[in-house]
Amino acid sequence: MNQNQTDTSLFGRLRFVLVETSRAGNVGSVARAMKTMGFSDLVLVSPKCDNPLGDAEAVAFASGAGDVLASARIVGSIGEALEGCNFAAAVSARLREYSPPVWTPRAFSAHAAGQPELRPALVLGNERVGLPNGIVEQCNVLINIPANPAYSSLNLSQAAQVLAYEARLAAVGDGVDPRGVGFQGDAASLAQIEGMYAHLEEALVALGFLNANNPKKLMPRLKRLFSRTQLETEEVNILRGIAREIIKHAPPKDQA
Ligand code: SAH
Repeated sequence: MNQNQTDTSLFGRLRFVLVETSRAGNVGSVARAMKTMGFSDLVLVSPKCDNPLGDAEAVAFASGAGDVLASARIVGSIGEALEGCNFAAAVSARLREYSPPVWTPRAFSAHAAGQPELRPALVLGNERVGLPNGIVEQCNVLINIPANPAYSSLNLSQAAQVLAYEARLAAVGDGVDPRGVGFQGDAASLAQIEGMYAHLEEALVALGFLNANNPKKLMPRLKRLFSRTQLETEEVNILRGIAREIIKHAPPKDQA
């Protein structure tokens, strides 16, 4: 079951299709790779392993993604696996003489995330032999993960992880805040930052560190320094508090 029938984001639209997977553990690992990135629609075409959804290794490797594994569908043909999809990408370590256009995972993800009507599928091959030409030829594009030319064959679930990660980045927009991940306060407004600079300048003059008649490049340099830090409102307030105290304790002008 696809839990996201009404979700038009890429999370609800992207399907992962595994063709003739030999190792149940890999199926579990793919489920985990998908869930960690927010995807859940998994279809297996003619798996070559016994009981891939219940196998002990599959369940162990799925870890907290047991729900994605348990809700995977098993079908007998690529046609059935792609039912409801209108864009299929063959994922292959091998470039072929006759193949659809070759895209990177990033190009595919941008294309898929940008079109709410698209029902895309990523089709991954068997661990040993990859995808048969017949399936590759049915797909709209071929996705190759750029890798070491001397050894470019990733483990099946690691390939799925790369694809799921790229799809997630595309789905959340540029998404990743340039300030990085983790705790973030409110970004200070330009007006707040300008006010802080004026206050700081006043404090540095009061301190005798900045000569108002010969300021040189001190303020532009400090502005450049702060502009690299992505100041938050609370930080601006702390810097203004420091400026206020400096002004309060600075020696009177005529003694400075
Ligand atoms: N020997 C096989 C490799 C199979 S690896 C071959 O030559 O194709 C299992 C699956 O992982 C592949 O079918 C493909 O879907 C995916 N995969 C592994 N490495 C990849 C890469 N560099 N680019 C794209 N897909 C890759």
